Amino acid sequence: MNIDENVVESIVKRVVSQLSTETASIQTCPSGGDWGVFESMNDAVDAAVAAQREYLNRSMHDRARYVQAIRDVVLDQENLEHISRLAVEETGMGGYEYKLIKNRLAAVKTPGIEDLTTDAMSGDDGLTLVEYSPFGVIGSITPTTNPTETIICNSIGMLAAGNAVVFSPHPRAKKVSLHLIQLINKALCKAGAPANLVVTVSAPSIENTNAMMSHPKIRMLVATGGPAIVKTVLSSGKKAIGAGAGNPPVVVDETADIEKAAKDIVDGCSFDNNLPCIAEKEAIAVDSVADYLIFNMKKNGAYEVKDPAVISQLVELVTKEGKSPKTEFVGKSAKYILDKIGITVGDDVKVILMEAKEDHPFVQVELMMPILPVVRVPDVDQAIEMAVRVEHGNRHTAMMHSRNVEKLTKMAKLIQTTIFVKNGPSYAGIGVGGEGYTTFTIAGPTGEGLTSAKSFARRRRCVLVGGMDVR
Ligand code: NAD
Repeated sequence: MNIDENVVESIVKRVVSQLSTETASIQTCPSGGDWGVFESMNDAVDAAVAAQREYLNRSMHDRARYVQAIRDVVLDQENLEHISRLAVEETGMGGYEYKLIKNRLAAVKTPGIEDLTTDAMSGDDGLTLVEYSPFGVIGSITPTTNPTETIICNSIGMLAAGNAVVFSPHPRAKKVSLHLIQLINKALCKAGAPANLVVTVSAPSIENTNAMMSHPKIRMLVATGGPAIVKTVLSSGKKAIGAGAGNPPVVVDETADIEKAAKDIVDGCSFDNNLPCIAEKEAIAVDSVADYLIFNMKKNGAYEVKDPAVISQLVELVTKEGKSPKTEFVGKSAKYILDKIGITVGDDVKVILMEAKEDHPFVQVELMMPILPVVRVPDVDQAIEMAVRVEHGNRHTAMMHSRNVEKLTKMAKLIQTTIFVKNGPSYAGIGVGGEGYTTFTIAGPTGEGLTSAKSFARRRRCVLVGGMDVR
């Protein structure tokens, strides 16, 4: 076979040139900062503004590739394990196995550009399109409880919608957040994206968060956290999404499959040591089935504390005067918490259970640890009313185990939560064993609900006058 030397030479030249362009783009990518990490908030915002301007000229196909690059870099087994381990080590909250599941979930099931559907109206006067268009640069404030999950899911959704993002991570999750942001930048750079689409500062702090929120070039704020930060972004005068606190109740009535309800509740309540804002925080059971429910919860990993003195000891241990949780116990395991009051249990114990009245601090306070009070009520109607009260109007998440369609509908209507799971564990509400996509930014107060790319976009109308219809 004759090989044309000129052809071979030209192919080799092309490959070499392509390789050197790729290498050059990798080397030039950081463009100030250290793979997306900047010394000052001003520099971080300026870099994101420049990146977003360049991003406007990229195609939807490019956006899809960049989103895929984020998914891939997180799903790389070594990275996945590293960020999951680091998150637990740094924050002291949650469990490694759960973090693996949650990070993988965020990478796989957060919607990308397919979320941005176009509406079209056509007629004698022409064609009108309504499309989702970027805000520009978004400021995103992320929590300690799901530090990496929130960065993954916000990066995917915000970039899919054409934005750049400046993250303000919780200072107690600094190391893992910065590491993940750098990983994402390296992956985006390799995929040919503009440098600095995802940025942050080297020393996250309340001062830096405030500087970010008041920066004139930040067009939208997204806060995932407790009531204080949600209130702050909503008072900023900017377009804001507030994904705030919950206190999810689970109701069990006499028609439920009690064995399944007991297992679902223990599984949901103990998931990542109860850190998710959607996790079961108190159970309200109809009296006639309460004993059997508790019996089955104990069979599935709940440890019941009956002695009122021990329950009081627990309140003192894990709360600040019964008003808020002590940070050092948030996201700790049942075994760890029990050990602190001298009770030794095995790894099979996942939840600490006790009977309580409605006004007990464990019912009223969002603890974010696997302590589950069970409140008895005479009937399902009273259970529903109590669930509405103890949810405190957060309109976040609630669960109900029942086969009575009328009562399921009644609770759904009265409780008004963003997520309402029927006959399943809470995490079914974010796409684990339940239908639907996932998010770690659930915006009850501002109404976006389970946020996705379209939540981070503006609706814009583009009108062509005359013609262009084919009817
Ligand atoms: P947090 O409110 O202490 O912190 C959240 C973020 O806000 C952090 O980055 C923190 O640094 C920042 N922040 C807090 N107060 C601030 C202030 N005054 N000024 C500037 N920045 C401030 O919350 P957390 O302990 O990290 O997370 C747990 C809380 O978040 C729980 O209430 C939980 O329900 C909620 N949460 C809600 C969702 C949701 O999707 N709705 C998801 C995760 C967590």
